[in-house]
Amino acid sequence: MREPREFEIIGRYLTREGHDGAVRVGIGDDAAVVAPEGDLAIAVDMIVGGTHFPETLAADAVGHRALAVNLSDLAAVGARPRWATMALCLPGGDESWVSAFADGFFRLAGQFGVTLIGGDTTRGPLAVTVQVIGDQSTEPLLRSGGMSGDLVFVSGSLGDAAAGLECLQGGIETKDAASLVECFSYPVPRVDLGLALAGLAHAAIDISDGLVSDLGHVCRQSGCGARIDIDRLPLSRALRSLGDTRAIEHALNGGDDYELLFTIAADDAGRVREAAAVSGTPVTEIGVLTGNGPLVGIRDGSEFELEARGFRHFD
Ligand code: ADP
Ligand code: MG
Repeated sequence: MREPREFEIIGRYLTREGHDGAVRVGIGDDAAVVAPEGDLAIAVDMIVGGTHFPETLAADAVGHRALAVNLSDLAAVGARPRWATMALCLPGGDESWVSAFADGFFRLAGQFGVTLIGGDTTRGPLAVTVQVIGDQSTEPLLRSGGMSGDLVFVSGSLGDAAAGLECLQGGIETKDAASLVECFSYPVPRVDLGLALAGLAHAAIDISDGLVSDLGHVCRQSGCGARIDIDRLPLSRALRSLGDTRAIEHALNGGDDYELLFTIAADDAGRVREAAAVSGTPVTEIGVLTGNGPLVGIRDGSEFELEARGFRHFD
């Protein structure tokens, strides 16, 4: 008997041999069964074509991104990724698209030792929901742990992804477009840094909606304000090529960076450099948490209030 297309697609593109002995039941049965060692961290994020990414984005980038945004959430709490499930909604049965999509997904999954253990596949508007499950072997890093006087750090560089999206949409012309588009298309989840920050960072969050917006979450939940030194924002050479004003606006309010923002006691700056080295992740000190107050930026000696203009779905 011929299998329906849906099962062909699942069997051919989404079922790959795993090596994780803790997976007792994987793809092919009614539910997956795993044997965890302790606490689990669980995150789920949906990405929708036309809302979170242009539908013309390369299929392997969609597969990468669907997993990366979730691994970034696990990184932010300091968990080690183990398993994923995926709900895939496809407008058609274009097998070359699914094949490239799966390649992007599994390339990143392989890098972080993630096994795809189940999911669902249906026809409809392009959307991918991935759920990730990870081991939480240390105290989770929370948004609420920040304290007045903490130093504020971010990983990597900020604003490249937002500029890359603008390039994809034809809004910017620059000779550095390829490297900016790469940042939007293939975000690198900072999993190893998140693990290295356990027991060190007071608060952490991953920057998905823009620095000001996500720092705002940390400040609100920690009962703090913050002062950010605009000249310290880590800006890539490619982003700087758009000019100062544009670069800073993207760094403050552009989404899709998937860098980690974290706060630490001022005495622990040396330990942060160690964590950065161990995890092979560049980090930059950009400011401090203050007592309960607004988020302010400081540049050339003058202070101004920072306003979040991160992406909002329901405004
Ligand atoms: P059920 O009808 O019992 O929910 P399905 O027919 O939806 O099962 O799926 C068959 C098997 O394929 C299940 O083990 C399911 O977890 C897996 N599966 C379906 N879609 C995906 C997907 N996109 N990624 C991973 N596994 C999937
Ligand atoms: Mg069933």
